[in-house]
Amino acid sequence: MRLDRIGVDESVAAVFPPERLVDRLADAADTDATEGAAADVTAVDGSPESLADCDAVVTLEHREPFLDLEWVHSIQAGVDRFPRERFREAGVVLTNSTGVHGDAVGETVAGFVLALARRVHEYAANQADNEWDRPDWDEAWTVAGERACVVGLGGLGRGIVDRLDGLGLDVDGVRRDPLPEPGVDRVFTVDELRTAVADARFVVLAVPLTDATRGLVGAEELAAMDDEAYLVNVARGGVVDQPALVDALREGEIAGGALDVFETEPLPADSPLWDLDDVIVSPHCAAYTRDYYRHVGAIVEESVRRVAEGDEPVNRVV
Ligand code: NDP
Repeated sequence: MRLDRIGVDESVAAVFPPERLVDRLADAADTDATEGAAADVTAVDGSPESLADCDAVVTLEHREPFLDLEWVHSIQAGVDRFPRERFREAGVVLTNSTGVHGDAVGETVAGFVLALARRVHEYAANQADNEWDRPDWDEAWTVAGERACVVGLGGLGRGIVDRLDGLGLDVDGVRRDPLPEPGVDRVFTVDELRTAVADARFVVLAVPLTDATRGLVGAEELAAMDDEAYLVNVARGGVVDQPALVDALREGEIAGGALDVFETEPLPADSPLWDLDDVIVSPHCAAYTRDYYRHVGAIVEESVRRVAEGDEPVNRVV
């Protein structure tokens, strides 16, 4: 692969200003000591014309003209929005940004967990109505000593485990191979999911959306959860059977949840999830941080260096 010019697609603007990454990569190219590792970087809009001189692109969205490039880098960890089979057929390398989200998502999940226990979401909602309304005596509680089950122990899961462990929760985990993980008391396989979630106060989803994980949490898994438990989804909406979740919340099978991702995004205005008690809705921003472009820049820079040395780019998916 030869990388003379890399485009930064305008779709990244949903997460950071494209010019930040363009400047970051251009600065790196200026100072790169590795012979031949530097590539020109330019802002592109996904059109064939703007991509004409590009060999690679860094992007949030998939666009058809990308199938004519050598390499596409997703600024997200999840690559479910890219047609991977067609990338394979076209011989286009696809990489992702897994590994950089653990801190931000871990802190967001810690925030959700604390808000739900300490009722912060209610105070914020009451404040919008100038309402001085204390919780009932038995509504607020503390998380130390409670159990969490983190489903998916990759980059995201690791960041989440660290924060929840630090808050004094006992943490279990679920992954495909039940390899031990520091800070995780018990590691279950996916086949044991219902057992794994049964005694957790928080079930946190941090798996990629794949054929194997679509609908992983359905009516039976929700029924297996405690009626005082909360579902936190920072993975992808499709990992949960959303109608089954709405039913479980309405019928009090679980106590509530914090949802960052949804089957349809933006979450439609008429979704029942907006108005359910003890459900925090966030607009797929659990990983947002003003350093996001720096983190993506570091991955791309490392990949450019590796490609110049004849190796594969970092985090290759296809
Ligand atoms: P990683 O690849 O680092 O980790 C994925 C984890 O999920 C691994 O522990 C893996 O198991 C596990 N896993 C994969 N497939 C299955 C399966 N079929 N059943 C059970 N476990 C499975 O990815 P990241 O942690 O970086 O990201 C995970 C996902 O989180 C992303 O794909 C993305 O969709 C989502 N995400 C959401 C963000 C947000 O803003 N809300 C931000 C970043 C990511 P094993 O250890 O056995 O390999």
